[in-house]
Amino acid sequence: MTTINNQLAAMNKTHLWHPFTQMKDYNESDPLIIERGEGIMLIDVNGRAYYDGFSSVWLNVHGHNVPELNQAITEQLGRVAHSTLLGIANVPAIELAEKLIHIAPQGLNKVFYSDSGATGVEIAIKMAFQYWHNRGMKEKTAFITMNQAYHGDTIGAVSVGSIPLYQEVFRPMLFPSHVIPYPYAYRHEGGAAAAKEAAISALRHLLETRAHEIAALILEPIVQGASGIIVMPPGCLREMAALCRKHDVLLIADEVATGFGRTGAMFACDHEDVTPDVMVIGKGLTGGYLPVAATLTTDEVYNAFYASHEEQKTFFHGHSFTGNPLGCAVALANLKLFEERNIVEGVKAKAAFTRHKLAMLQERPHVGDIRQQGLMIGIELVRDKETREPYNWTDRIGYHVCQRARELGMLTRPLGDVVVFMPPLVSSEEELEAMIDILTKSIIDITEGGPAA
Ligand SMILES: *Cc1c(COP(=O)(O)O)cnc(C)c1O
Repeated sequence: MTTINNQLAAMNKTHLWHPFTQMKDYNESDPLIIERGEGIMLIDVNGRAYYDGFSSVWLNVHGHNVPELNQAITEQLGRVAHSTLLGIANVPAIELAEKLIHIAPQGLNKVFYSDSGATGVEIAIKMAFQYWHNRGMKEKTAFITMNQAYHGDTIGAVSVGSIPLYQEVFRPMLFPSHVIPYPYAYRHEGGAAAAKEAAISALRHLLETRAHEIAALILEPIVQGASGIIVMPPGCLREMAALCRKHDVLLIADEVATGFGRTGAMFACDHEDVTPDVMVIGKGLTGGYLPVAATLTTDEVYNAFYASHEEQKTFFHGHSFTGNPLGCAVALANLKLFEERNIVEGVKAKAAFTRHKLAMLQERPHVGDIRQQGLMIGIELVRDKETREPYNWTDRIGYHVCQRARELGMLTRPLGDVVVFMPPLVSSEEELEAMIDILTKSIIDITEGGPAA
């Protein structure tokens, strides 16, 4: 057993290049190798179990190795694993599209599949661009994004993103986007109301002066994830959507992280009754099982492409695995479990429980801000609570807290100095409590000079 594991560890170091990972750090550390999952636990090759405290990077809904989801895949596997969606349909892709339209904000009527959040975003921006082109408004080509936005890692998605760390090297390859502030209440003088006003007025100004050259605004509704789980003040999303409508600019809602119950509603847009023109979903769509994403849009957008062959309005985009039947089958089973187990209602109750349990952490001397929307939680650690002075980035405080959490039996990943807690939506109160205990102890140990500091 140990020899096999040592071999695996050696092969991992020799042959694998991990995403978002400095491999030198990684190879000098003690890499974790997962072998299986059980409920909300992941179990490594040595038999040690860890809570999946970040839902395997924000994907997981019903836990791992779920009999109903497994069965949906094996049943579909007995029929066909893959068949193209290029001009040919398949059964689960059709059934899933119908279901998605049923649960999506009203007015979204068409589903375009892909295989990751980034490809879904890529489709959204090409769709928005060509929408105006097909309507003869060829000058509407630019995009507005929000400060520190994350929309994925393909070149188009990075171009409409706004995290300098992911952009700098590639700057010459990117197309420029307009950037407006995202309301970050904790780091805005004047707090939530002023932060909201700054974002809205920046958008208003841009639209009043430049709407004629702008195709769309892309944003992460209600919660901006990768920037540090930043929650919009109430009403902000709705006002931004109204401004876009008024100025004839499309709204693209990137619900890749926020969709499927994560924020306490099926989609974050539901909190403010907003129907975007384009909505991107991924991550929780398959319960975190298989790589399926989708870009949903309105009849109005779809109809701008609907024309005779000669008019050349076709949307030339697609992937080998677009509409993959196995992925669509497990997504259907996922949505069935959402209904049967009343997952979205459950998230609201669990979120309230979690908020209550986390309140004690707010007293700690280095916990600056606890941000929560549903079961999407970020804990911002600061060197000085009074002045909100951040830690030195070289201290890697978030990283060390997460390493400590792993030692104590829970997996998560930081966003800089923000410790992320995104448990699978099915986590029980007992499990939530156990995870919050680990989180609390890890933060205290690292920021208050506990044993591992
Ligand atoms: C994760 C994420 C993406 C990218 O999705 P991938 O499946 O990793 O390509 C895009 N947008 C948001 C908001 C995300 O959180």
